[in-house]
Amino acid sequence: MKILIVGAGASGLILAIRLKLNNPKYTLIIIDKNQKAGRKLAVSGNGRCNIGNFNLNSKFYRNKAISEKVFSKYNLQQQLNFFESLGIKTKCLDKLYYPYSESAKAFVDYLFNYAVNLGIVFGFQEELFDYKSEDGFILAYTNKAKYKINKLVFATGGKSYAKLGSDGTCFDILKKHNYAVTDLNPGLCPIRTVESTKNVSGLRVKGKVTLFLDKKEFYKEDGEVLFKNDGLSGIVIFNISSIISRNINKFKFASINLDLFPSYTLEQLVKEFTFKASLPISNFLSGYFIKNVAEYIFKRAKINYSKQVFSVNEIKEVARICKNLNFTFSQLYDFDNAQITIGGLASDNLKEDFSSKIEKNVYFVGEILDNDGLCGGYNLMWAFGSALFLGDILCK
Ligand SMILES: Cc1cc2nc3c(=O)[nH]c(=O)nc-3n(C[C@H](O)[C@H](O)[C@H](O)COP(=O)(O)OP(=O)(O)OC[C@H]3O[C@@H](n4cnc5c(N)ncnc54)[C@H](O)[C@@H]3O)c2cc1C
Repeated sequence: MKILIVGAGASGLILAIRLKLNNPKYTLIIIDKNQKAGRKLAVSGNGRCNIGNFNLNSKFYRNKAISEKVFSKYNLQQQLNFFESLGIKTKCLDKLYYPYSESAKAFVDYLFNYAVNLGIVFGFQEELFDYKSEDGFILAYTNKAKYKINKLVFATGGKSYAKLGSDGTCFDILKKHNYAVTDLNPGLCPIRTVESTKNVSGLRVKGKVTLFLDKKEFYKEDGEVLFKNDGLSGIVIFNISSIISRNINKFKFASINLDLFPSYTLEQLVKEFTFKASLPISNFLSGYFIKNVAEYIFKRAKINYSKQVFSVNEIKEVARICKNLNFTFSQLYDFDNAQITIGGLASDNLKEDFSSKIEKNVYFVGEILDNDGLCGGYNLMWAFGSALFLGDILCK
């Protein structure tokens, strides 16, 4: 059995290792257009590689059915056990799992060396251009070779962070082979807002963040928001960007509400501010926020920051803004700033075992599929889980 895996990223590496461990006699070749394996994996989790989440649940994924199928067999513990069996120790920090080294680069190097030691053959700076079926085999054409193989696996990722390899060109190859590809949009990225955030750029606030689509509450999460020059960022906003992206054609208007005092009712806050408002301005909101954020809140409340005395209505308005700091969504950041791609190869193209319904001996794994998870290790769990799933199918 000779299998060509296209893509030496998170899913391709784990698939190859699983297959070779299960079937040492298989000939496995992985090609990647990059000059080395796992380039995206090596920068994941801010270089620490967040490989899993304590709270694995298909509700955090776009495609719940396909996620359920994979995670019912390869849940968090089974994935961690697999890494342990390779000799990779993991650790849990605040419900997020990392390699013990907390080094994405060390993790990738380990997997790559492990794969090489198993006899898996790598071809770098090698790009798949096309393929065809012939006499029960697949002929795959790259810039360096023509392969005659039994099975071809696409582990080519999505379209985000093209500089790390996965630029979405494989979707064009697949479209030529009559595959349906759903709309591709950036996910887990910052968002641009109509309201200016320039004066608070680089600053952070914490609170409850709520997404409204066409004025209906759609998603809620507590966390930290980072102001950018032209919008919002931070993990909660990344999640919100994915929710927006998943529903991009289903709404006309999206807004994001920051409640900077989630544990207070508006009345409680007004009461507290009424007491504080008797203090000089520098001691008012500055007791809660740094100066620029305090100034920004006054500006949004349309109240002059240099005022010394506040009317009851002004105090109420400042409190209201603190509980409803609203931003109108204007745009997602582009793929170069997105951790994942929303959309991909449509599930209708797949059989139960992740093989193609259109052609024999063609398989898919990882982010290329139309499934994505929220921030916090969910996307690597999908890449690894789907790779283990396919790895066990292909060795039967
Ligand atoms: C900055 C950043 C941080 C992230 N952090 C996390 C995190 O901490 N936790 C988490 O769960 N997820 C994280 N992700 C998401 C996660 O990295 C991806 O979901 C995951 O890498 C997808 O794995 P994959 O194998 O499907 O694709 P990839 O890892 O993208 O691998 C695909 C490979 O295919 C190759 N390729 C593509 N087309 C061809 C072709 N035609 N010929 C040859 N080779 C080809 C590419 O060069 C690439 O190496 C992060 C993503 C980014 C960008």
